[in-house]
Amino acid sequence: MPEVANVMDRLVSLAKRRGFVFQSSEIYGGLGSVWDYGPLGVELKKNIKERWWRSMVHERDDIEGLDAAILMHPKVWEASGHLAGFTDPLVDCRQCKNRFRSDDPRIKGSPGQPDAQCPVCGSKGTLTAPRMFNLMFKTFMGPVEDAAAVVYLRPETAQGIYVNYVNVLQSSRQKIPFGIAQVGKAFRNEITPGNFTFRTREFEQMEMQFFVKPGTDQEWFEFWREERMKWLLGLGIRSERLRFHRHTPEELAHYAKDAYDIQYEFPFGWQEFEGIHNRTNFDLSRHQEASGKKLEYLDPATTERFIPYVVETSAGADRTALVVMVDAYHEEEVGGEKRVVLRFHPAIAPLKAAVFPLVNKDGMPELSRRIFDDLRKRHNVFYDDGGSIGRRYRRQDEAGTPFGITIDGQSTQDGTVTVRERDTLRQVRVAADGLAGYLAERLRG
Ligand code: ATP
Repeated sequence: MPEVANVMDRLVSLAKRRGFVFQSSEIYGGLGSVWDYGPLGVELKKNIKERWWRSMVHERDDIEGLDAAILMHPKVWEASGHLAGFTDPLVDCRQCKNRFRSDDPRIKGSPGQPDAQCPVCGSKGTLTAPRMFNLMFKTFMGPVEDAAAVVYLRPETAQGIYVNYVNVLQSSRQKIPFGIAQVGKAFRNEITPGNFTFRTREFEQMEMQFFVKPGTDQEWFEFWREERMKWLLGLGIRSERLRFHRHTPEELAHYAKDAYDIQYEFPFGWQEFEGIHNRTNFDLSRHQEASGKKLEYLDPATTERFIPYVVETSAGADRTALVVMVDAYHEEEVGGEKRVVLRFHPAIAPLKAAVFPLVNKDGMPELSRRIFDDLRKRHNVFYDDGGSIGRRYRRQDEAGTPFGITIDGQSTQDGTVTVRERDTLRQVRVAADGLAGYLAERLRG
């Protein structure tokens, strides 16, 4: 598998070199499976989150937005089942003291048995039998660090939505069916993290919980399954690298009646990056019982009372950004030279265009600066006057910038500029005054 490792290695190295993703606290040797987004990465992730928000909240009448706090009452996690059930089976090596998930594919044999072999130190028979380990991060609230002060960093954003469901329903005057969308951080003390930003301990989720009348849940489940796939295709992700995986009864989470993962074919195999779950009335019933507060819905048309069923779409912003980066990454030969290009959909590309004066004289810098200042009012654009034009193009190819605008001698005469398209390498002359419209048309969608 050396080729596989190489593609990911090259992407990780590009991500660092060009300022997409850095290791957290790198100057101290890094913090395990925690990553920081650099100048280009933060734009990419922000664009993905905004596009999601627009499609969920702004473009629909039946979904409201929410931003709940990360810290919640500890009873939330008791009621949701996370305290008892959000666990992974782990094994320890008594020899080298490393800890693994018991299903770690690198382990040979059955942990706890004499034949099992530690994947790190290679000792045989030193792996303990699996024990359950809770994935929630704990901390203390207030000055006293005792059991009564324990709070958790949320392992999913969904619970913030459930406990606010009545608040949102009443304040927004929505009627069922309706949804609540939220983007925010979640934390999981993952034991075998890895594959760059695929599995991290701190990450962002984009979750939408859709509250429906029991009996209509399967219909809505199908609806949201299709909608989410359409949205991902609209991001320009290659369809042959996307597929659904339906959970088997063994895979279903404690709260779910039905669930589909959306998987992407990464260089390290098919892996989930989004899930659509029919969570039934599990969470709301549990919160009603534990809090003693009524979370029923009174249907104004039929005067029926019921606890709504919930269809959830749960995506990782970081994993989606990783999918987008992997999918966009291309190495190709152009005129006998190798070029690395990130073919981002223009709507989510971190930089929309770069402005290049061909040379730094003869009025070209002045005109370039004017064009740049005009464009930057609308779009995130970049000004680059350093090095040969070929090198400047390459730099923007690596950043995934869809358009390169070159101002040359002719520009100062007739007011036209050259626009180079990243993917086709086609160059067209466009009137500088028409540039804003030219870009707006191509950046839409
Ligand atoms: P996995 O099986 O990979 O641990 P999961 O089934 O526990 O994921 P969910 O609880 O359904 O995942 O979370 C929804 C989404 O949140 C995932 O599809 C993924 O995009 C994201 N996510 C979950 N855990 C992580 C993580 N440790 N790092 C980055 N993203 C994550």
